[in-house]
Amino acid sequence: MSLDSLKHVSIAGREVSLRIGVDMGGSDIKFGATDLDAELILLPDLVKLPSLSQQGPQKTISQIITGIGAVLEELGAKWAQVATIAVTVPCPCSPDGVILEVTNLGTPDTKHLWEVPFGELLATAVEAEAGCTIPTFACNDANAAGQDDDFTRFGLKTDSRTCLFITTGTGMGGCVIVNGSVFYGIGQAGELGHMKIAVPSGYENRFSADPNPPCGCGGQKCVETRASLTGLIRRVTWALSDAGVDLIKAELEAEGREFNPETVAKLRELYEVAPKRAAYEVRTFADAHKDEFCRWLLEDWAIMIGALFASLAPALHPDLLIIGGGMTEISGDAQAWFLDVVKKSYAQTNAQRSFESKPGNCEIVWSVSTDQGWRGAILMGIRAGQA
Ligand SMILES: [Zn+2]
Repeated sequence: MSLDSLKHVSIAGREVSLRIGVDMGGSDIKFGATDLDAELILLPDLVKLPSLSQQGPQKTISQIITGIGAVLEELGAKWAQVATIAVTVPCPCSPDGVILEVTNLGTPDTKHLWEVPFGELLATAVEAEAGCTIPTFACNDANAAGQDDDFTRFGLKTDSRTCLFITTGTGMGGCVIVNGSVFYGIGQAGELGHMKIAVPSGYENRFSADPNPPCGCGGQKCVETRASLTGLIRRVTWALSDAGVDLIKAELEAEGREFNPETVAKLRELYEVAPKRAAYEVRTFADAHKDEFCRWLLEDWAIMIGALFASLAPALHPDLLIIGGGMTEISGDAQAWFLDVVKKSYAQTNAQRSFESKPGNCEIVWSVSTDQGWRGAILMGIRAGQA
């Protein structure tokens, strides 16, 4: 890719032609670059570095500077050619780049280092390295993922539409996108994972042993506690107990589904070594082996996602309800099964015909964006008025 062939404009005495996007996770940082319109992805593979987030924001910021340097080197570009830098953070963040509440960064000891004007600190570090001022922008990662999904579907169009996006993985992030732009409210709108959603009728039995699941936010019954890997890790302890196995087996048999005792034996073996390991394998067994015990456990997520969407639909009457994040990595067959359960729970919770899920009206779909939070951050910067 020759940079000379890209569109370039002059800003503050600099000829700029590219934008840098950075996706900062709790453990890794990914870097990508686009042209000014965010349409052309300039690097075939993302640059990836450890985030060092355990050691506080300054270490992470120097990793970001190193990563951007590596991107520029691969592209044969100079700092002065960079129009904007946009970074995602895995925690609530105000539109001006202040980390509001530290959720997924650092250790219990270093967390207090993270309530910082991250955008400002980054801008200072960039200026020191680049020798010029490059506008920087920091945003929440779920917002960025939602923004990228919207862009993938609709480009930079701003016509009337509303999309609700959730990302399910370790936790549950979310965002509301109105006419192509992330809706902030007075700062943190779209934290959909922390909505307190009732278990839909007909599904109470499965949650009877776990009626008030605690959330990392300090609350109880947030939808994230039942539709996330964190929730599943807590859930597996119960599911592999005698009482858990008995309840799940009875429910499966009542529905004419197969219960395979070997799966339970395997999961118990894994659980002995590491409970988290057992939780990871639940998804693999549910997908690759279509194991019904594991599918029953993942149905927790699907049921609660359906209930969440059904509760939001009357408030926002969206065009699309979009599921993104780690769960999108399952096979096509497993995706179809999962979406069926989501839709069934949605219909069970929301019987109003005007909010029926169908094409063009509260339609529930999988995300079409893959691993491009970094580009979502660039797009959010553009939408926020970055030149
Ligand atoms: Zn919560």
